[in-house]
Formats: sequence, structure tokens, C-alpha cells
Amino acid sequence: MAPLPARGLDRATILSRLADYRQDNLDTHGGRTWAYVYDHGKEATDAIAAEAYFACLHENGLDPTVFPSVLHLENELIGIAAAHLGGDRATVGNFTSGGTESCMLAVKAARDFARAERGIAQPELVLPETAHAAFHKAAHYFDMSVVAVPVDPDTFRVRPERVAEAINAHTALVVASAPGYAHGVVDPIPEIAAVCAERNVLLHVDACVGGWMLPYLRRLGVSMPDFDFSVPGVTSMSMDLHKFAYTPKGASLVLYRDAALRRHQLYACASWAGYTVINATIQSTKSAGPLAGAWATLHHLGDDGYLALARDTLDATQRLLEGVAAIPGLRILGQPEMSLFSFTADGFSVFPIVDEMKTRGWYVQPQLAFGCSPENIHLTVTAISAQRVEAMLADLRECTAIAQAQPRDPQREELLAHLGQLDPGDFTPELYAQMLGMAGLDGQALPARMADINAIMNVLPPALREQLLVAFLNDLYRPPQ
Ligand SMILES: *Cc1c(COP(=O)(O)O)cnc(C)c1O
Repeated sequence: MAPLPARGLDRATILSRLADYRQDNLDTHGGRTWAYVYDHGKEATDAIAAEAYFACLHENGLDPTVFPSVLHLENELIGIAAAHLGGDRATVGNFTSGGTESCMLAVKAARDFARAERGIAQPELVLPETAHAAFHKAAHYFDMSVVAVPVDPDTFRVRPERVAEAINAHTALVVASAPGYAHGVVDPIPEIAAVCAERNVLLHVDACVGGWMLPYLRRLGVSMPDFDFSVPGVTSMSMDLHKFAYTPKGASLVLYRDAALRRHQLYACASWAGYTVINATIQSTKSAGPLAGAWATLHHLGDDGYLALARDTLDATQRLLEGVAAIPGLRILGQPEMSLFSFTADGFSVFPIVDEMKTRGWYVQPQLAFGCSPENIHLTVTAISAQRVEAMLADLRECTAIAQAQPRDPQREELLAHLGQLDPGDFTPELYAQMLGMAGLDGQALPARMADINAIMNVLPPALREQLLVAFLNDLYRPPQ
């Protein structure tokens, strides 16, 4: 444990130490990182967003009555979002720290609505297996159970009739995605909404990744189902700004068809000795920086700016989809509408491709097999990607050939088959240590190559994966020794 320096350090020391620490990070700009970051490629916009962010850094969104600009900026953003997503004058919502918080708040609102208005004592969530992990996290935090709905193994869209079967007397909320993160495909929202309306159940459309971009793609002629408040039966939505609205991180919106439902999201506390607490979101004290950064980005790019970015992104995505599909052994999963997609490999593992790409300076995201979805590599295509398509495809072709040429190792396959037979009750500290050893992990530093750990994770049942991950995280977050 290193204590605080006895005397404060100077600016140069601090900044150079910070630069050292950041050396091994993924690039956030430039188009070599195909997940986690979103780059429009416009330096001037980034600079304005940063200026606005820093200008409001120390203002507190804790109480919307004390810093009037915070409330004003937030309400303006909600108005813009409502217009963007087929809402009307009744549409309300809030600015949150990210997609996870937006999704969790929608679940919290639905849970409390179910209890207060529908007399459901133990509200449940109906989740397609492609719904984002944020909803499982919400169920976990808010003590709700999940009714899982399988998706179509060819399209990765949830079928409305399966949703209808999953709804029961305890259902507080159904979730559908526009699009789902894993495969980038949009669920049939109008049909699902009809089912929900008929059964008098709330429907949340998770448009965290797609809400901002899809309306632009539609204007560019991409065909897709209606997915927003223009569809009767859609009662709430989430839309991240820190994804395809390209704002600094910490920016998302949760929206409701009307204030009668949103009321159940809100929290006030007068049962203590301090100041009156009125919280729209999970955080209490929060910087107004992300809100100002988001507001500035939207206003600087404007509608025409976003349309142009969407055009570049669509073009890059189409070239990539064709390029990936043309690489022997690779196969695109489903028919993605937007600018994120995944592909699998037939007859060999994709995980070595991820490592090979890393050595060539690209980050591509591995996704484990789940339900009918095989192990795959996910690509998030942003406006900057247009400049990198050919270079990336050339390396992907080479890396795929390397992965395909790896000799089979029957002993390893046997071991993986054995791990696949384990169940969550088998998890012990010894097994954990053994798996770390097999993956070349010592519980602190990550190995350069992740294919082994990904292969192990891939064969474990999800509940065991979760135990392994929690144990790993519990080791990872430790002060420097
Ligand atoms: C990214 C994402 C989320 C979660 O958002 P965070 O900002 O990472 O918390 C939820 N749903 C979908 C569809 C997403 O793509």
C-alpha cells in the first residue's frame, strides 16, 4: 500500500505519471478500436465538448432547484430526444450516467408501477436472451426475477409469440432492443408492442446503442421496423448519447411516454436530519460536466452533421459486411440494420483471431457463446471507421488464416469438454486457481493472449462464468502491493 505523498506533486510530475499509466490503454480515437469507444473524427467538436464539460465540471446535479442551468440543459435534451424518437408533448425523461443507469431506472419505474398500480407484489421482467446485461443487473439489484425468452437462431430477433408465452400475471415489464448490442439487429417492436398492449403490460425499448442513429439511417433509406414512441404500446425507452451521438462518456437518456409512469422512477427523502433529497436518478451528487458536454456536442454537430456521420458509418459498415463475409471461414450472424455486427467462424475458434489482431494494433471484441448465439467477434463501426476498412480487412483475412491453421489439440479439447460438464455448485477456490493457471493468469496481470481464458469461459455454463468473473474481479481490485 502506498500512502498519499506527504507533499503535493507539481503539474508536470502528475501529468507525466498519468501519461505513463495510460500507455497501454486502447486508442480512443483513430479507428483502431472496434468496441468501447465512438469516434466521429472531428477534433473541433471534441474540443468544444471538452470546453463545455470543464466549464460545468463543478456544478452539482444533486438538486435541480439550485443550479438552474443543469435543469434547463437536461430538459432541452429530453425535448430533442422526444422529437427524435416519435414522442410528443407528454414525453418526459431524465439524463443519466449511461445506458446501464437508464435501463435500471426504467426497470425500477416499472417495478414500482406494477406494485402501486397493478397490485403485483413480486414483479418480474420478460427478457429476450439478446437483451443487454444491464437488465439482468437491474433484476439483481432490485430483487426481481427474469423470465428469459429465446431468440430466433437465424435472425437473432425475438419472436412476438414467444414474448406472448412468457408474459404472466407477475410481468411488470417486457424489454426489446433497437438494436441488441450483440448482433446489431432490431427486434420486431410493432408486433411485440401489440402483444404488450393487448396484455396491458409495459414495454421498454432499449435503444441505448441505436436510438440516436437509427432515425438517420432511416432517412438514408435503410429499411427497419418502427421502434420508437410512434408505436402504440412502447411505454419507455433508453438512448445513450455517449455512443452514436458521440458525446463524452457519462451521457444517456431514459424516456417515458408520460409522467404518470416516470413518477415511479423518482425518489425523494425527507426522513433524515439533513437537506431535502430529491433524486431523479441513482446518483445524488453528480457533475454537470457530462450533461454540458453532451449538450454542446449535439448542438455543434447539428442534424446535418449527424446525417453526414451516419452516411459515412453506413458506407463503412456495408463495405465491412461484404469484406468479412468474403473471408473464407467467417460468417456474419443475422442481418444487422445498423453499424454493429458480429461474425463467427465455422470449424475453428474465433478467439485466436482477437489476439492476432491485437498484435497488429486492432482491438476487436470477443463474445462468448450464449443460447443460440455461437462464439463470435463483435465490431462496432463508427464514423471514423470509414478510413480504416480496407486496412482492417486485410489484417482480418491474415489473422483468420492463422487461427484456422492452428493444429487441433485433442488433450486441450478433452479438458474443455470436461469443463463444459461442470455446474455452478462445482465452483471452489481450487477450481478457480486451476482455471487461472490454465489461462496463464496469476490473478493480477493479464496475459498478452486471451484466447485460452476465452475458450475456457466459452465452455462453462453462464452461472459458473459469473462466479469465475466475480472471483477474478475480487482479486483485480486490490491496492498496489
Ligand atoms: C451499451 C448498451 C447498454 C449499456 O450502456 P452503458 O452505457 O455501457 O452502461 C444497454 N443496452 C444496449 C443495447 C447497449 O448497447
